[in-house]
Parts: sequence; structure tokens; C-alpha cells
Amino acid sequence: MLYYVACWTQNDGVYCCGHTHPGVREAMNCLVPDGGSFIRAYDAGAFRSLTNREFIDFLEALQEMPWSWRIRLKDAKSPHR
Ligand SMILES: [Zn+2]
Repeated sequence: MLYYVACWTQNDGVYCCGHTHPGVREAMNCLVPDGGSFIRAYDAGAFRSLTNREFIDFLEALQEMPWSWRIRLKDAKSPHR
């Protein structure tokens, strides 16, 4: 079984969201955009870092997150707001 979780660090350790997200993008909905969050894969009974391909998914999905600086920049430039 392969799934993904959102993790973040706090003063007293590392926390995971506890879900079993089927994809990187789903797990990113649980990310807290404070810079201390990251996605890990659970693969064959152990957590591991993302592969290069999964990391590309991460970067692509990052641009679509509502808290993305790219989207905020686009909103700021819109003349209709
Ligand atoms: Zn989650």
C-alpha cells in the first residue's frame, strides 16, 4: 500500500495529518503553509521522502494551492478586484 501524508514540525517534534491520501495533491490540502510542512510517502511499511517524480507533482500542485504566492500575485494584479 502506498499513500501520502502531510507532516509539519513543531517545537516538540514532527506531526503527520494521519490520513491516507492517495496522491501528493490530496495530501497537500492538509499542508500548513508556514514553511515547516512537507509531504512524505508511506511505502511498503515505512515512511520515505518523495521520489523525483512525486516531487514534480508536489511542485505542480503547489502552484494551485489557494495560499500559493503565485495565485496571490495574480489576484493582486487583477483589475477586477
Ligand atoms: Zn491529511
